[in-house]
Amino acid sequence: MSVANAIFNGARLRCPACGQGRLFRAYLKPVDLCASCGERLGHIRADDGPAWLAILIVGHVVLGALFATEMRLGWPLWLSISVWSFSAIVLTLLLLPVCKGIFIGALWAMQAPGSEIE
Ligand SMILES: [Zn+2]
Repeated sequence: MSVANAIFNGARLRCPACGQGRLFRAYLKPVDLCASCGERLGHIRADDGPAWLAILIVGHVVLGALFATEMRLGWPLWLSISVWSFSAIVLTLLLLPVCKGIFIGALWAMQAPGSEIE
C-alpha cells in the first residue's frame, strides 16, 4: 500500500490498510481495530495536525469568499459576521474528520504512529 493510497483511504474515512472498514467509531474517535482487515488503528496519534490542516483550508476558502463577496456586494456588518462565522464553523466541522483521516493514513503508511509507547 502506497502512502498516497493510505492517505486517500483515510480521507474517505476508511481504514488506510484495506480501504473497506470504517476509520472512526465516533466523530473523531478512531476504531481500535479495523472491522474489515483487523489492522490496529487506535494507537495512531494525529495530535493537532488535523486542526492545523482544517484551519489552513478553511481560512483560505472562507477568507477568499469573504473578500470576493465584500468587494462586490457590500453586505451590512451584522450579515457578514453571521454568514462568515457560520460558514467557517460548519466547514471546519465537516473537514476535521477528513483531515484527521488524512493524517492517520499518512502516519499509518509511514509506520510513525506518533505514540511514544510503541
Ligand atoms: Zn482495514
